[in-house]
Amino acid sequence: MGGYDVVFRRWLILRCHKLARRWQQLRARWSEAQSDSVQDDIELLRRQYLESEQRFRALLESLPRVAVQGYDRERRVIYWNEASTRLYGYGAAEAQGQSLEELIIPESMRESVIQAHRAWVREGVNIPAEELELQHKSGEPVSVFSHHVMLGEHTENPLMFCVDVDLSAQKRAYRELDFATRFDALTRLPNRQTFEVQLDEAIVDCRRQSAGMMLVYLDIDDFVAINDALSYEQGDRLLVELARRLHRVTEASDIMSRLSGDEFVIAFPMCQRKEMLLQLVHKVQEVLHSPFLLDGSRHQVTACLGISLYPDNGKTASELIRNADVAKNRAKLDGRGSVWFFDQQLHDQLLYQHRLVDRLAKALDSGELSLHYQPQVSAASGRIENLEALLRWQPADGPPVSPAEFIPLAERSDLIHRLSDWVMETACQQRVLWRDAGLAIGRIDINFSGRQMSRPDVFQRFEDCLARHGLGPRDIGLELTENVLIEADDHILEGLRRLHDLGFRIAIDDFGTGYSSLSYLKHFPVTALKIDRAFVRDAPDQPKDRAIMEAAIFIGHRLGLEVVAEGVENREQLALVREMRCDLVQGFYFFRPMPALEMERVLGSLVTGHPSGSG
Ligand code: C2E
Ligand code: CA
Ligand code: CA
Repeated sequence: MGGYDVVFRRWLILRCHKLARRWQQLRARWSEAQSDSVQDDIELLRRQYLESEQRFRALLESLPRVAVQGYDRERRVIYWNEASTRLYGYGAAEAQGQSLEELIIPESMRESVIQAHRAWVREGVNIPAEELELQHKSGEPVSVFSHHVMLGEHTENPLMFCVDVDLSAQKRAYRELDFATRFDALTRLPNRQTFEVQLDEAIVDCRRQSAGMMLVYLDIDDFVAINDALSYEQGDRLLVELARRLHRVTEASDIMSRLSGDEFVIAFPMCQRKEMLLQLVHKVQEVLHSPFLLDGSRHQVTACLGISLYPDNGKTASELIRNADVAKNRAKLDGRGSVWFFDQQLHDQLLYQHRLVDRLAKALDSGELSLHYQPQVSAASGRIENLEALLRWQPADGPPVSPAEFIPLAERSDLIHRLSDWVMETACQQRVLWRDAGLAIGRIDINFSGRQMSRPDVFQRFEDCLARHGLGPRDIGLELTENVLIEADDHILEGLRRLHDLGFRIAIDDFGTGYSSLSYLKHFPVTALKIDRAFVRDAPDQPKDRAIMEAAIFIGHRLGLEVVAEGVENREQLALVREMRCDLVQGFYFFRPMPALEMERVLGSLVTGHPSGSG
């Protein structure tokens, strides 16, 4: 843009100055003497002036990329060429008479533009040429290099011409260049250099906060074969789709890159706890669970993962990447879809979890699972009101495994749905057996996990199961944690609302351990709160826990909810929850969870009038 523009500008200034000077001379002579010869001279000059002005205008009009606008003393438009219309969106007639600042100056610049213009009119202070971001009629920003040609300062009629060159093409080119040097054109992820810089920054943050970080190196299995069998184009599609899926499972603070070909790295800063690390690894693995649609058909893709941890396996970006790469190469030796931790201990744990899930899937069919039941008793009378069903797994060849351990693992796959179907079915069967035996029990409440709710027909299956057994809202209830409720989408909430309206009891489990925002309670279709064990345990000695518990019970009651205290283990805790007016109590003090047969004996002894439990 440079040369062409500068020449134009000089020409414009010279031309205008020359004409203005001659016009002034002419006027002086006009008033001096009005002889005929002078009249002729004047006529000649006037024609020259008009012709010159016409040529000047024609020139301005013919400049396609240079937007020229003229403004009067009040900065009102007196001239507006075609290029200005193209650049700013206003037609000449539309712009005519409007003020500069209202047309194309963004709000934030208005005051300084007016000041600069005034300083020029009054004191002749020059307005320098500069790069500006002005405004299109649509409100979009317009990048220009803007020159100012000032005529007639200190006169009655000062004119300002703005000569703007559109910079959007250059800006775009610059942005594209910048993008190309920092990002991968295919997946639009940061490239290796950018990633290393970002990773080093994240390491600094982690060090400052004494936090850990995990780096996952992902390498697609047999990518070459996919490329060969389909085409490079389809291979590219796979990479783009994979990047998109990875994006979905990561947070804004996580960083990700395609290092080369079919290799991706993802860094999860600020994570340390072992369970959390393993959960994140599963999240990455799940990205490959559903097949990829390539060339019109579905392809199951696997990848090997190698994992390194900050600070244990490296203190710099390059060290961490290298060690994750080493772990990934080790994973490749184990075959498709393998995972290796650079860290031995974590690796062993991961293996153990994998085996556990495999065993659990088999346990479902081999009768190793059962339900235990734990009564909820009235705080006031000690009478058994309801039971909670708790899942038990006793492997034939080893020690029992706690549901707190295997439920979260089952949640990582569809196994959770098979498990929860089993729990629903078994609880319903049991409820019918006890009803038919004439035992005096209320409801059996079953636990619903978060992942279980992701199944679109979860409530329909629940209702169907109950209907099959001839059971209703007084027979089976639901428990779910507050986090499940808060993360629930409209579909889930609608399903819960429907159950609520049908009269089902819905309890918020582990209350106080999740988001714990009491204000959300009124939005959810629930009927009871189960105060988490931790509060019951700590309340006798910890005034703060006690205060939170009291507040939760108070608000629960005000909202018309039943309040249950979980994990009551001794007389002192019982006295406290009674004092706080909890409605129901559950815990070892009264009953431990027990197998169905034992539960039956307890219930039977109640019917025949024998005292029960330790409470
Ligand atoms: P939860 O729903 O909070 O269940 C209460 C847990 O507290 C049970 O542990 C129970 O045995 C234990 N407990 C009851 N009274 C006391 C007490 O006085 N002191 C102590 N220390 N503990 C007490 P459990 O059976 O190990 O279950 C652990 C978790 O596993 C459950 O927590 C629940 O989240 C999950 N779970 C159990 N069964 C199922 C199921 O069928 N489906 C689903 N989705 N989750 C289940
Ligand atoms: Ca529960
Ligand atoms: Ca609980």
